[in-house]
Amino acid sequence: MSAVPADVPGSQAWFDRARGVTPGGVNSPVRAFAAVGGTPRFMASGAGAWLTDVDGNSYVDLVCSWGPMLLGHAHPEVIEAVTRAIARGTSYGTPTTTEVELAAEIVGRTPIDKVRLVSSGTEATMSAIRLARGFTGRDLVVKFAGCYHGHVDSLLASAGSGLATLGVSSTPGVPASAAAQTIVLPYNDRAAVEAAFAEHGDAIACLITEASPGNMGVVPPEPGFNAFLAEICHRHGALFVSDEVMTGFRVSRSGQWGTDGAVEGWTPDLMTFGKVMGGGFPAAAFGGRSDVMALLSPEGPVYQAGTLSGNPVATAAGLATLRLADESVYAQVDDVAATISKESSAALTEAGVPHVLQSNGNMFSIFFGDLPPVRDYATAQTQDVAGFKAFFHAMLDAGVYLPPSAYEAWFVSSAHDDRAVQQVLDALPAAATAAARV
Ligand code: PMP
Repeated sequence: MSAVPADVPGSQAWFDRARGVTPGGVNSPVRAFAAVGGTPRFMASGAGAWLTDVDGNSYVDLVCSWGPMLLGHAHPEVIEAVTRAIARGTSYGTPTTTEVELAAEIVGRTPIDKVRLVSSGTEATMSAIRLARGFTGRDLVVKFAGCYHGHVDSLLASAGSGLATLGVSSTPGVPASAAAQTIVLPYNDRAAVEAAFAEHGDAIACLITEASPGNMGVVPPEPGFNAFLAEICHRHGALFVSDEVMTGFRVSRSGQWGTDGAVEGWTPDLMTFGKVMGGGFPAAAFGGRSDVMALLSPEGPVYQAGTLSGNPVATAAGLATLRLADESVYAQVDDVAATISKESSAALTEAGVPHVLQSNGNMFSIFFGDLPPVRDYATAQTQDVAGFKAFFHAMLDAGVYLPPSAYEAWFVSSAHDDRAVQQVLDALPAAATAAARV
């Protein structure tokens, strides 16, 4: 096992410099290690399952860029596709063939009829909501506490991800009028959904949900919950928006819908995608029923646009990634996730650390503490963050890069080979002991 020294002078120097020019020294809050303390690692390179920081330390990466790197870092065929695309120029502001091929690949894997490409998951959910409002002529949006859909004004209420990590329930800068258009409900709570629709049904434009939440830790839908949501939306003339930015093309070839909707027989009206479909570049998408998508400019009146939307380099990376993501890739990712999650839980049990392991296919997370199964955000918030923090740092010191937050899913890739998995397994006993001492 290659131990990583606890002091990281290079990362510290860059962090100091970064804080002088960027708020908190980072361009996305959770990266700052605010919840776990210590020096955020400034990464210099990635290859396969591994990241190397500016001090030359290597880590097995269990973040995978928060989901996108399904094939691992610098996959040779993705790099080749990107290199070829870059040589042809980086942006034209015209239609290109690659974006059509990527759109076709997305439509081919999902139940949507049409898709529009954008540059971030935030843009995708923001645009889907505008479209739902335009289609229904209604304003209200229903979301669940602990679900994160990007930093869209109307979707930041009781959101997961960085807001959960930092304990922020609402943020200054969101007008009260925007927050008032959002109804926030507890996840997996059918009675709460029934009550909200009974009271506001004819004013609700859409309900948006993570297809299987991963931003309050992994909290899967109870069986039939998504089918119930689709049905109640349709009963009230609202649109059902399934956010698959995190799960899309990661938990299966067809994302969460492939293991859930395709089996249970429900179809979202709109879906959002990001992460894996961009192959590590800024690309995302929203799509859905053709009659809804037909309202989008220039076909219809609902405006949406982007200078870099469908960017030729990003779409080349995404297309190469999706074309490589065949059943063998998902089998490998599932297998590695099962091993790491099971062994992590076993090590914690062995050390006497109470915890709850929750999985949704190859996404998983561990809630530290004596908790019941976590079915909603309120329960997730009762976890023992101090236990996680001790575990996180012991893993980091042993060369394993976990998400620096107790509220995030752990991600693996098809490049996580035996050597990478073994380094994680070797690190577990000491990390579990560190958590036990808290
Ligand atoms: N929706 C979900 C489910 C997400 O997990 C995220 C990002 N973690 C987003 C939307 C926002 O995507 P982005 O960070 O690309 O704006």
